Amino acid sequence: MPVDPSDKIKLGSKAARIDGPVDKTALEAATDALLARLSELQAAFHADGRHAVLLVLQGRDASGKDGVIKTVYGAFNPTGVQVAAFGPPTPLELRHDFLWRVHQVVPPRGMVGVFNRSHYEDVLAVRVRALAPESVWRARYDHINTFERMLADNGVIIRKCMLHVSREEQHDRLKARLDDPTKNWKFRLDDLKDRDRWDAYTDAYREMLERCSTPWAPWYVVPSDDKAVRNHLIARMLVDTLESTKSTFPPMDEAVRAAATGFA
Ligand code: AMP
Ligand code: MG
Repeated sequence: MPVDPSDKIKLGSKAARIDGPVDKTALEAATDALLARLSELQAAFHADGRHAVLLVLQGRDASGKDGVIKTVYGAFNPTGVQVAAFGPPTPLELRHDFLWRVHQVVPPRGMVGVFNRSHYEDVLAVRVRALAPESVWRARYDHINTFERMLADNGVIIRKCMLHVSREEQHDRLKARLDDPTKNWKFRLDDLKDRDRWDAYTDAYREMLERCSTPWAPWYVVPSDDKAVRNHLIARMLVDTLESTKSTFPPMDEAVRAAATGFA
């Protein structure tokens, strides 16, 4: 369910899980069916070319952003996919407005795009780490809504998922990463510091969800302590999104058809 800005958003541990027991085998089988459907829908979406899809992934470290890209976006034909990741801005990027680097990598029509982090870092990390004065980051909620509105008016279907993990689950995942030589090289000092700023991030996420969940670019809070649940929910939302475009294959060019008569 998209976030309704009038909702009281709860980002506690409970919201990181779904109620009741999960039949993992059945859930994964259902997800596989959704992923197969995504691949099928993408073919017509790409050929139709009226829209782009942009999935924005935000979440704390180890919330599963990379996992969603690997598993859910892995279902698509890579030819029609565009992935962009956002780290700390470069000196050149800092000399531009915060949306400059983002706009350049918005997927063109026909493509399904995904952002691993996004312009929302400019009201999250920037706010919590005090990288800009409050007057600067606070003005950005409106800037973001207007920017996303412009993209939507140009055929970009925006869906935004906040991968919500509990503090305990994040602890276990970070611990496993720190012990894994294939993963611990990725750690930055800020990753560990950010965990100490847990509550400040919770406030920043809550305000982001309240200010920037719009009819043209809704936020979804995805319970993400369980990877199988997370993947299932996102795959389902994307199937609904692609189906809503009612994409069709364009008819064959008549001149080509005529020229192909007798082609054997
Ligand atoms: P990762 O996604 O683990 O590769 O980490 C990327 C890092 O870049 C995270 O610590 C983000 O908070 C940081 N980051 C991304 N965008 C910005 C931004 N606009 N300003 C400051 N830090 C950012
Ligand atoms: Mg990281």
